[in-house]
Amino acid sequence: MITDVPSEADFVETGLSLLGFAWDKAIELLGDLENARHYGVDDSEATAAFWTAARQTLLVTTTVAQQALEFILKGRIAAVSPYLLIAGQPREWPRGVYTNVPFAEFRTIDAQDLIHVHDTVAEVPLQEAFVAKFDELRRKRNSIMHTVDRRVEARAGDILRDILLLYYQLFLGGDWVAVRRQYLERSPIAELHSTDFVEQQLVWEIEQVLGLLTNRQKQEYFGLPARQRKYICPECARNSDHLELLPMTAVLRPNASNSTTVFCFVCGETTLVAREPCQRGDCPGNVVSDDEGQCLTCGLYGPG
Ligand SMILES: [Zn+2]
Ligand SMILES: [Zn+2]
Repeated sequence: MITDVPSEADFVETGLSLLGFAWDKAIELLGDLENARHYGVDDSEATAAFWTAARQTLLVTTTVAQQALEFILKGRIAAVSPYLLIAGQPREWPRGVYTNVPFAEFRTIDAQDLIHVHDTVAEVPLQEAFVAKFDELRRKRNSIMHTVDRRVEARAGDILRDILLLYYQLFLGGDWVAVRRQYLERSPIAELHSTDFVEQQLVWEIEQVLGLLTNRQKQEYFGLPARQRKYICPECARNSDHLELLPMTAVLRPNASNSTTVFCFVCGETTLVAREPCQRGDCPGNVVSDDEGQCLTCGLYGPG
C-alpha cells in the first residue's frame, strides 16, 4: 500500500507558509526601498546594485508564491482524493517495492495540470480571476529576469497585491492578518526571543500595504468600509510607538455619530472612545481615546 499519504491540511499548511515567506521577502524589499530613499540613496552605483539584488529577490519571491499556490491547489485536490495527484501510468510507478511505498516516491502531476484536475473534481471550480492571476504569475517570473531597473520597485508592490488577491480567491472569508500573525509567531526569531515584535511588524506591514490598495480592495481584503472615516487605532499606535506611525486602521463600530467604540482589523481590538472635540483648532476630529485622551483623527494628545 501507499504510506505517508499527505492530507489536505498538510498541503495547505505548507502552501500558506510559502505564501508567508514570499510576502516576507516582498515586504522587506519595500522597507529597504523606503529606507534607501530615507537615507537619500539616488542614482548612484549603490542604487544600481540594489536594483539588481532586488530583481533576484523578486524572482525568488515570485517563484515561491507560485509554488505556494500549487501546494494549496494540491491540497484542494487531495481533499477529494490524494491519489488524483499521482502522475503517470502504473508502469511508471516506483519499481521493485510493492508494500508500503511512501507517497513521496511517486511523481505527482505537473503544475500546469493542477487547475484542470482541480476544476474537474472539485465541487466549486476556481474563479476566473484566480486562474488569470495564476497564469500571469508564471509569466511574470520570466519577465522579471529581463526587467530594467526602476520598474522593479512597482513589482514588489505587485507581488503583495497578487498574494492578497490569490489568497482571498482561494479562501473566501479568510483573514490574511491572522495568517501573517501565525507565520510571524512561528518564525525562528520568535523562538529565540519572544513574539513581542509581531504586533509591531503587523502594524508596519499593513501601513505599507494599505498604501498600495484601492478603497475597494481595502474593503474586500480587510473589511475597511470605503465610505467610513478611518481613525488611529490606539492599540496599534501603542504597539508600534517608536515607528512614529499613525495607523489609521480603526472605524467606529457601530458607525453612528454617538458611537463610543472603535474596532481595528489589525489587532482585532475594540477600544472605548470619548466623543469630544480635538484640542487642535484646525482638526475636525471628535473621537478621542478614552484612556490617554489622544485625538484619533490627528494623533494629538489632550491635556493631562
Ligand atoms: Zn489595532
Ligand atoms: Zn485632532
